[in-house]
Amino acid sequence: MAEAPAREAGDERTAGWVATDGVEVVGVTKSFDGGPPVLRGVDVSIEAGRTLALLGPSGCGKTTLLRIIAGLEVPDRGIVRVGGKEVTGPKGVVPPEKRRIGMVFQDHALFPHLSVARNVGFGLPRAERRSSPRIDEALEMVGLAGMGDRMPSTLSGGQQQRVALARAIAPRPRVLLLDEPFSNLDATLRVTIRTEIHQLLVELGITTIFVTHDQDEAFILGDRVAVLSEGEVVQSGSPEEVYLRPRTRWLADFVGEANFIPGSGRGDYAVTPIGDVPLERPAEGEVEVLVRPEHLDLHPAAPDSGEGRAGDEVAQVELVEYVGHDTSYLIRQDDLLVRVRRPSLPVVERGERVRLRYSGGPTTWFDLED
Ligand code: ATP
Repeated sequence: MAEAPAREAGDERTAGWVATDGVEVVGVTKSFDGGPPVLRGVDVSIEAGRTLALLGPSGCGKTTLLRIIAGLEVPDRGIVRVGGKEVTGPKGVVPPEKRRIGMVFQDHALFPHLSVARNVGFGLPRAERRSSPRIDEALEMVGLAGMGDRMPSTLSGGQQQRVALARAIAPRPRVLLLDEPFSNLDATLRVTIRTEIHQLLVELGITTIFVTHDQDEAFILGDRVAVLSEGEVVQSGSPEEVYLRPRTRWLADFVGEANFIPGSGRGDYAVTPIGDVPLERPAEGEVEVLVRPEHLDLHPAAPDSGEGRAGDEVAQVELVEYVGHDTSYLIRQDDLLVRVRRPSLPVVERGERVRLRYSGGPTTWFDLED
């Protein structure tokens, strides 16, 4: 067992409350009813007190993995350890209720006919279900102190989500699992609740594993992100690693927007139609260079700029999309269509002639056949 990490000063509300454990999943394989495996040798892990996002497209096996960690599903092969202790594996399977794992489901799954307090008390020992300091404590932690007598139907979607969270933490689990926690909320509420839950998880310092198909959510909440595709972990690492050094072209495209610029590797840089681009590992021959839209600068082209070295080629603005916090552009340069994003008001107009310049750090590249 490891204690939660040190907390910020002034965080009296939750300080020292949670004892939490790391989680390790090793070589987990699972198929249903003799079908093809939906998980194929999955390895993921998260340290005590940190948050792991399981990110992937629909059907890639995220929920199945979460259910295996919870003990609700048994894998064909593989091991799950919580706090270093095997809970699933060759030695057997510890039942879900003995794992000290709290789970929040997609649809909150609150009982409509029970009060908020009774909902929160649901996972507690029978004697504590109607009234217990743990119920009040959990409600206070999620910012719903004094609302125990309300019925779920009188609460907003966000408040209901917090009740579900209170119910999961009331028995003082060592690990929290969240399955698509924001998927039932509308876009505006989603952002607000996401921040609230993020703040709460940081304060609690409880090990959390959550499933999402939303990259923003995974990056914002996850200290680490494991990206799954077709039952396999494509990459796991910090959000920065996954975003800036994706291992595959598919992943580069899945997490954020990506331009793949054809280039010719010359060791630690590539010669491309938008100029020389530094590379994070050496390349020779024909490659595709990953260029994120925010790593491109746009300069209006001077009228006399017909000739020029590589990177000085003139391109044309095909589309300008102003979204308030930034502006996105589609730029055509010969047969290349490139997306550029700048955190500013539009600096050029549709039809204008511009030059593209790479402004990011050493970037990754892919073989053409990837
Ligand atoms: P989503 O985001 O759509 O929920 P997911 O990544 O969470 O997808 P899973 O729910 O884990 O994916 O499902 C992975 C695959 O396993 C799917 O093809 C699904 O149909 C199948 N599957 C999941 N549970 C079962 C089950 N109990 N019986 C049979 N097949 C199942």
